[in-house]
Amino acid sequence: MTSDDIWDVVVVGAGPAGSSAALSALHERPDARVLLLDRSDFPRDKSCGDGVAPHVFDVLRSLGADETVRELQLHHRAVETLELSMGAQGVTRRMRRPALVVPRAQFDARLVDAAVGAGGILRRHRVRTVDTSPGGVLIDGTIRARVVVAADGAHSGVRRSIGLVLPPRMALGLRAYAPTPRSRAGRQVIRFGQDRQPSYAWAFDRGDGWSNVGYGEVLSDRLSTPSRALMVQRVEDLLPGSTSAAHSWLGHHLPLSSARWHQPAGRILLAGDAAGLINPLSGEGIYYAVATGACAGRVAALSATSPPEGQPADPGTAHREGVRRLLRGNLVSTAIAGRLVSKPLVLSAGLRASAADQKVFDDLVELALGPGRLTPRILRGLIRHGRQ
Ligand SMILES: Cc1cc2nc3c(=O)[nH]c(=O)nc-3n(C[C@H](O)[C@H](O)[C@H](O)COP(=O)(O)OP(=O)(O)OC[C@H]3O[C@@H](n4cnc5c(N)ncnc54)[C@H](O)[C@@H]3O)c2cc1C
Repeated sequence: MTSDDIWDVVVVGAGPAGSSAALSALHERPDARVLLLDRSDFPRDKSCGDGVAPHVFDVLRSLGADETVRELQLHHRAVETLELSMGAQGVTRRMRRPALVVPRAQFDARLVDAAVGAGGILRRHRVRTVDTSPGGVLIDGTIRARVVVAADGAHSGVRRSIGLVLPPRMALGLRAYAPTPRSRAGRQVIRFGQDRQPSYAWAFDRGDGWSNVGYGEVLSDRLSTPSRALMVQRVEDLLPGSTSAAHSWLGHHLPLSSARWHQPAGRILLAGDAAGLINPLSGEGIYYAVATGACAGRVAALSATSPPEGQPADPGTAHREGVRRLLRGNLVSTAIAGRLVSKPLVLSAGLRASAADQKVFDDLVELALGPGRLTPRILRGLIRHGRQ
């Protein structure tokens, strides 16, 4: 076998994690041979709220995808206002940095285009087997790679191939597209449930007359899985009038992150949902996907370089350290916050504290959408407003 038979990096899954991994590998080493495999053709749909946090664009810019970011920002209206409520209690404020609402069919296809534009090769291929050896990784008996990035989503087969089970905490979400009523134009609206906890319904205005609406809840055990009919009913209960003209209902699991994140040593690097990284406070996963995809791509490209002096000792270990440096404080904070919001008294205190102080609101948004932490200001706000 010659070195030409071996891909430097094979990325399995071309969602935001996979495209970012490919972009990052090629940003690090423009001559790297990077293969991006996905079982679907693009554009393809993906169940999601379509809320894209501003931090996602920071990461994409750092990978050289400035043109893609510019186009997304040109064609999709920025959403500046976030409305959070539980029952009669709520807060509506401007976010420090606006988010975009971009249907995933479009968002993911733009990122795949960027990865291909940077030199990645995209192939439609459903990966079934992954075998590792000291010299590399063999995919489906025919595709050889020095390093593989597992970016194949919540039910990752590559993750299973290295003996890792799914993360213990899962949520289930269901989304649809519905006309935007005037009252919700220009807003991201989140209404927390009061009985099934933690849960919320959302309506995110796309800016084109339509909103992404949906409902998600954390699953306490397998038996608690809500039916699709119940989830649609929950959307209607929490956001009255939003289901009658809704179409394209689509559900999916969300593997929620915990304080302890694990990446084994070796040549398979986990990213995004395949790494079990969805914010348990908010259900946000695109930021984690692009951020950990970027880490994985960088490590993979360096690991494939010769001479070996420049290579990290072990790709898996280097990736684990990179992600921990980036997210450690955030994962601990979101794990705590994710548990706290299941307590209605704490959630009410958070809403009151956010209504009283823009900075507490800003800190909570940073924690929910980006790499933020539980700040002293948030904790003081929860204590003060928890007493009321
Ligand atoms: C209902 C819902 C609402 C959500 N709302 C938001 C939101 O508003 N904002 C936000 O930031 N996050 C949201 N999330 C989370 C977000 O959707 C995910 O975190 C994000 O999609 C993760 O990206 P990824 O690239 O890791 O995985 P994915 O986007 O799932 O991409 C995985 C890719 O792998 C491919 N693949 C899978 N198996 C194989 C295989 N065997 N061979 C080849 N290819 C394969 C798939 O075709 C897919 O293209 C939501 C999730 C759900 C379910």
